[in-house]
Amino acid sequence: MTTASDPRTAEAGCCVVGGGPAGVVLGFLLARAGVDVVVLEKHGDFLRDFRGDTVHPSTLEVIHELGLLGEFLKRPHQDARRLTGYVGGEAVVVADFSHLPVHAPYIAFMPQWEFLDFIAGHARQYPTFRLLMRAKAVGLVEDGGAVTGVRVETPDGPLEVRARLVVGADGRHSTARTASGLVVDDIGAPIDVLWMRLSRRPGDPSQPAGRFDRGRILVMIDRGDYWQCGFVIPKGGLDDLKRNGLEAFRAEVAAIAPFVADRVGELRDWDDVKLLTVTVDRLRRWYRPGLLCIGDAAHAMSPVGGVGINLAIQDAVAAANILAGPLRSGAVTDAHLRRVQRRREFPTAVTQRLQVMVQDRVISRALASQAALSLPLPLRLLKRFPILRRIPARLIGMGVRPEHVRSPNVVSPARAHEPERVGSGSV
Ligand SMILES: Cc1cc2nc3c(=O)[nH]c(=O)nc-3n(C[C@H](O)[C@H](O)[C@H](O)COP(=O)(O)OP(=O)(O)OC[C@H]3O[C@@H](n4cnc5c(N)ncnc54)[C@H](O)[C@@H]3O)c2cc1C
Repeated sequence: MTTASDPRTAEAGCCVVGGGPAGVVLGFLLARAGVDVVVLEKHGDFLRDFRGDTVHPSTLEVIHELGLLGEFLKRPHQDARRLTGYVGGEAVVVADFSHLPVHAPYIAFMPQWEFLDFIAGHARQYPTFRLLMRAKAVGLVEDGGAVTGVRVETPDGPLEVRARLVVGADGRHSTARTASGLVVDDIGAPIDVLWMRLSRRPGDPSQPAGRFDRGRILVMIDRGDYWQCGFVIPKGGLDDLKRNGLEAFRAEVAAIAPFVADRVGELRDWDDVKLLTVTVDRLRRWYRPGLLCIGDAAHAMSPVGGVGINLAIQDAVAAANILAGPLRSGAVTDAHLRRVQRRREFPTAVTQRLQVMVQDRVISRALASQAALSLPLPLRLLKRFPILRRIPARLIGMGVRPEHVRSPNVVSPARAHEPERVGSGSV
């Protein structure tokens, strides 16, 4: 007998928690392979705090393999074939992507919601794809030690999604991973980032750049009519900045990027400056019977190198390659989940190690220095021997062990429909 307080239920082959880069790409690939998949996203849309806009060559290659690159590149974006650093005012190209052996050898800076909207739009054309917006996972359903579903809060009341496999792709504060009890190792991050917007004007530099000098670091990303700026601070340093006052902060920004001195007044109060805390961690085991974590839920990434989105997508591609077949036949085992971890753990660990090295040896030292900085030896070498710029380009642009789409396309996209919302019809 059911009562009015019993949750509604839904069944799926796979329930993906989180509609970020990892979750949406995995949902798309599984639906394309004929798996019945539900993606849960707690927000009502894909617009959220800035979390990076970078679509790297490795991800563009995946989109090419899906036959969607031309259409994707019609979305608003800026191409960056090189990344430039300014150290003590001296410019040096630190990475040159133009030689990478891929169809789009550059970073496409595209607002993340455009990317997610594009992938979700294509996923919705597959009949076995369901995206539930405003659907917040609040816990796992378990049976005999195995995860068998997700408890969800929706505007229309509780919902229980039962699935053969639950994938936690709900980011660094993952509910799925907390509820699973999986053990996480905190690797540590000595920095946080303050994000803000400043208008972009004719005559400004055209390439994204990182600027380092006298204890300050500013990353500037060209977003067409404005700069998305990331001001790097020592962890917990925001209170000190606030004590010194907004005027002093504006002066800091103008000192490191003098061409924006005429517009730092656009930062009217501290509400225009958003703190994004940086975390670097990794699960020891990424799975339990019935549950797998991928993306930041398995390994929160530092913003160093701007690779987190791309690693999350690589996880999704690998997971779909390994799991699409077993999900379709209804026989996902721990051995399949272990294969996903084995495939992705090495590239993740190497990338995090490099990020921590840059955080500790480059960023923390630069923040601690009050003197004018001069080019360190590795950057002097990059300046002197341009061919060396291909090495950071390879590491940042392609990463370690890039993934290729091997999951099948067994269903022709048959329908295009509006996003489903819980409560507006059947689930
Ligand atoms: C300051 C900063 C800057 C960064 N800049 C870059 C960059 O330039 N380039 C780059 O590649 N990476 C960058 N990163 C890293 C990047 O943001 C992450 O690595 C990447 O977003 C991970 O993708 P994901 O899909 O695993 O998780 P997320 O992007 O975090 O997506 C998780 C999704 O799950 C949803 N969700 C959360 N909880 C629930 C729940 N209980 N129920 C349902 N849905 C839920 C969220 O709303 C979200 O949509 C940056 C990180 C930081 C902190």
